Amino acid sequence: MESQDVIIVGAGVIGLNTAYELAKNNIKVSLIDQFIPYRKASWAGAGIIPPGNPNLASNPIDWLRAKSSAIFPTLSEELLQTTTINNGYIKCGGLELTPNYEESKELAWTKEHILFERINSLDLKTLNPNLSPKNCKTTYFPEMAQIRNPRHLKALAEGCKLLGVRFYNDCKITGIMKKGDRVLGLESETGIFTADQFIITAGPWSGDFLKHEGIDTQIFPVRGQMLLLQSALSLKEIILRDKHYIVPRGEGLVLVGSTEEEVGFNGGTTVEGKEHLLKIACDLIPEFATAKIIDHWSGLRPGSNKSSPLIGKSPASDNLYFATGHFRQGLQTSPATALIIKSILMQEDLGIDNQYFMKPNEQTETNKPLFQS
Ligand SMILES: Cc1cc2nc3c(=O)[nH]c(=O)nc-3n(C[C@H](O)[C@H](O)[C@H](O)COP(=O)(O)OP(=O)(O)OC[C@H]3O[C@@H](n4cnc5c(N)ncnc54)[C@H](O)[C@@H]3O)c2cc1C
Repeated sequence: MESQDVIIVGAGVIGLNTAYELAKNNIKVSLIDQFIPYRKASWAGAGIIPPGNPNLASNPIDWLRAKSSAIFPTLSEELLQTTTINNGYIKCGGLELTPNYEESKELAWTKEHILFERINSLDLKTLNPNLSPKNCKTTYFPEMAQIRNPRHLKALAEGCKLLGVRFYNDCKITGIMKKGDRVLGLESETGIFTADQFIITAGPWSGDFLKHEGIDTQIFPVRGQMLLLQSALSLKEIILRDKHYIVPRGEGLVLVGSTEEEVGFNGGTTVEGKEHLLKIACDLIPEFATAKIIDHWSGLRPGSNKSSPLIGKSPASDNLYFATGHFRQGLQTSPATALIIKSILMQEDLGIDNQYFMKPNEQTETNKPLFQS
C-alpha cells in the first residue's frame, strides 16, 4: 500500500468530514472502515443542528456547536455544487418544551445572540396546532436546522472521492506499530498501512486505541433507537423535550427519537423501545396514535465519561490524533471538529483553546452543552 500523508480510522461523520477538510487542503488522505462506511451512529442520527454564534461562544464546547452551525449552510451548498447531492440542510426552526423557562439558559442564549422567543399557548396554536405541550413552557428557535444524515454522509464521501481520498472498506485496524513516540503504521488483517500522521475517529470503538495510548477517558456505546412515522400531519419545526425529539422530514414523515441505553455493542431494536418512542410521540401530538410506523432502527453513540469530545494529539505519540466521544452531538459538531484537527496538523491558530479537548473534565451542571440532540 502506498504511504499516505494521513490515515484516518473510521468513516463516520467525524472521519469523513475530517478527510474532506484535509483533502481540500491538498493533503493525501486514506479513510479506513471496518464495515461498509457511514452506516453507524452517523447514519442513524436525527441530524438536528442547533443555532449558534461562534464569535460569542463562551467556551470551547459551545464554540464547537456554534462554529459548526455557521459552517453547515456553506458546506451543504459546496457539497451540492461539487457532488450534486443535496444533504437536505434546512433551517426549519425548533420548539423546546421545558417544565419552566430556564433563566440561566436564556442568559447564555442571549449572550451568544441566539434568536429565541418564549411562546404563549395562543401563539403555539398558530405555530403548531397539533402540539399538546401539557404543563410545559415553550421556547421557539427560528434558526434551528436539520440535515438528512444519510444524504450528508453520501455527499461527504462523494466530495472526498472527488478530492482524491482513498477508501478502504471492510478493513478493521487491529493494532498500532510504534517506534518510541512515533507511530510507524497501523495493522490490519490485509496488511500494514503507513503514513506520516494517523487520526482515530472510531466512534464508540475508540476505547482500545485510547487504552493503547494510556489515555484514561472511557468511550463506550450508548444505543439510541429511532422510529420513522408517516402521518397526515404537516409539521415544520423540530420539537424537543428532555432527551426526546420529533423531527419532521417533509411529506408527513417524522423521526421520533431517541432512547439512551447502555447495552454494549448491541445495535438491535426492541419492542419496549418502539412502544416508548410511540408513547413520547403521542404524548406530544395525540394524532400520532393513528400514524403508520415506517421504520425502526438504532445506532451506537460514542458515549464518554467526560464532558466533551476528545479532539487532539495523543500525549503518548508525536503523530497520532483523536477525534472521538461526541456522544449526542457528533453531527452538529462535525465541521468544527474537522477544522480543529486540520488546524492542529497545519499549525494554524483558530483562536480557541485546542488543548481543552484533550483534558476534558467530568460533566457537571455548569458545563453541559446548551443544546442536546
Ligand atoms: C439515534 C441517534 C440520534 C442522534 N441524533 C443526533 C443529532 O440529531 N445531532 C447530532 O449532532 N448527533 C446525533 N447523534 C449522535 C451522532 O450520531 C454521533 O455523535 C456521531 O455520529 C458520531 O460519529 P463518529 O464518526 O464519531 O462515529 P460513528 O458514526 O460510529 O463512526 C465510527 C466509524 O469507525 C469505524 N471503526 C471503528 N473501529 C474501527 C477499526 N478498528 N477499524 C476500522 N474502522 C473502525 C466504525 O465502523 C464506524 O463506521 C445521534 C445518534 C443516534 C444513535
